[in-house]
Amino acid sequence: MNTAGLDALKTRLPAQIWTDDATQIAPWLSEWRDKFHGTSPLMLMPRSTEDVAQAVKICAEYKLPLLPQGGNTGLVGGSTPQGEVLLSLRKLNALRSVSAADQLLIVEAGMTLQAVQEVATKAGMMFPLSLAAEGSCTIGGNLSTNAGGVHVIKYGSAKSLCLGVEAVMADGSVYSDLSRLRKDNTGYDLSRLFLGAEGTLGIITAASLRMVPAPAGLMRALVALDGPDAALDLLGRVQDRALTLFEVMPRSAIELVLKYIPDQRDPFSEAHPYYVLIDWELRNHDAAAREPFTDMLSRALEAGIIRDVVISQNETQADQLLALREHMSAAQKHDGGSIKHDISVAVSDVPAFFSRADALMAQMIPGCRPVGFGHMGDGNIHYNVARPEDMAPQDFLAQWDWVQTAVHDLVTDMGGSISAEHGIGIMKKDDLAARADPVKIALMKTLKASLDPDRIMNPRIMI
Ligand SMILES: Cc1cc2nc3c(=O)[nH]c(=O)nc-3n(C[C@H](O)[C@H](O)[C@H](O)COP(=O)(O)OP(=O)(O)OC[C@H]3O[C@@H](n4cnc5c(N)ncnc54)[C@H](O)[C@@H]3O)c2cc1C
Repeated sequence: MNTAGLDALKTRLPAQIWTDDATQIAPWLSEWRDKFHGTSPLMLMPRSTEDVAQAVKICAEYKLPLLPQGGNTGLVGGSTPQGEVLLSLRKLNALRSVSAADQLLIVEAGMTLQAVQEVATKAGMMFPLSLAAEGSCTIGGNLSTNAGGVHVIKYGSAKSLCLGVEAVMADGSVYSDLSRLRKDNTGYDLSRLFLGAEGTLGIITAASLRMVPAPAGLMRALVALDGPDAALDLLGRVQDRALTLFEVMPRSAIELVLKYIPDQRDPFSEAHPYYVLIDWELRNHDAAAREPFTDMLSRALEAGIIRDVVISQNETQADQLLALREHMSAAQKHDGGSIKHDISVAVSDVPAFFSRADALMAQMIPGCRPVGFGHMGDGNIHYNVARPEDMAPQDFLAQWDWVQTAVHDLVTDMGGSISAEHGIGIMKKDDLAARADPVKIALMKTLKASLDPDRIMNPRIMI
């Protein structure tokens, strides 16, 4: 243990921004799925960028590794320390400015995504990044993982909503690019380096974010159909500039939600093999604004592409339909956990991916229950596999690595990505090294060595 470095942090930083009390640190040492558990001798809770810079300067001086953490909702083990100083950004959470005229807001890294959305709404605008963990995850974490979520089909991932960042570098200097500009071609776009870097190149302390005009409302439909082929056909038929969400769910996933999450109900009178949740933004509240979309659904029904459809008539019903999708991960946790993958393939390859992956799983673990759901509109599927009902959860989860390798081999064969939106962390580090273009890996190593020569910034992950 680097006792001299830890002592320097404790003596040179204000007492209210650190703790070495194990009981206060403990809740931040395990991740949401309980897959990763860690240790840390010290947790820092800076209130300002200056606090962060001061802490990093001391860590640099003593070559003391640190790990930045936001809401700790990451799913690849990147936010679980293994002996590093834990730098929690949650208290660095102020709103610095908001401007509806410029359609931008500048917030500190520890603000939760939900709070960012609320600031935008208050300004009469919308911040469209949206994911099930939005009440806990922070904007710094979202940018560091380049989070996706359910609105990528229209608004892109976190990266496309960020105009620039303020970040503390590995030597404690502060890079400041809290841009209010829409156009700025003056040299390298350095802010982009930090987006998706998972804290390996610097610590994001604030960000300048793009807001978009808020729609007058939305029309949400839950469609029942036969399977992924029909869903792909439907996607082609419902494409429109107003389409903001297209999420697929098999019956097995819906059943887990109905079984484990209180107050959920099946909106259809009979079970169907497959479902798609769709949102279109509406320009106004007139009934006529919904017509183009109800027409699309009627035509798909007449063509036999879909079996049935439920259209929400008010906000409560819309929330109920969304809840079925949002509770999908939590329901699997109650079921004893699942082996999870966050992959992407070309949108048109999604049905082929499902049929090849399901066949593979049936061969590898007879009786297992594939529960592949998610962002089909982006080609991003959370291909989760639940245990055979007669297999103990720990015996099933022990097979994670070889199942993951098989799924990733398939994805690689199809020209897809082994991480669509969750990042690399510790979980996919070896896979990245083995599968990525060697030139890309070499460039990443060069960048890391040049920006963090002593490897103090989240040193165990990604590269
Ligand atoms: C129920 C559930 C649903 C989810 N759904 C989605 C989804 O739809 N789409 C999606 O993309 N993700 C999803 N996630 C994953 C997770 O919410 C995202 O990865 C999120 O962006 C992480 O934010 P966080 O603040 O919790 O970051 P953390 O988990 O704290 O950290 C994630 C990584 O970023 C680094 N980091 C955190 N803050 C900073 C900072 N300020 N500067 C530098 N590095 C930093 C950490 O070191 C770590 O490597 C989901 C998670 C859960 C639990």
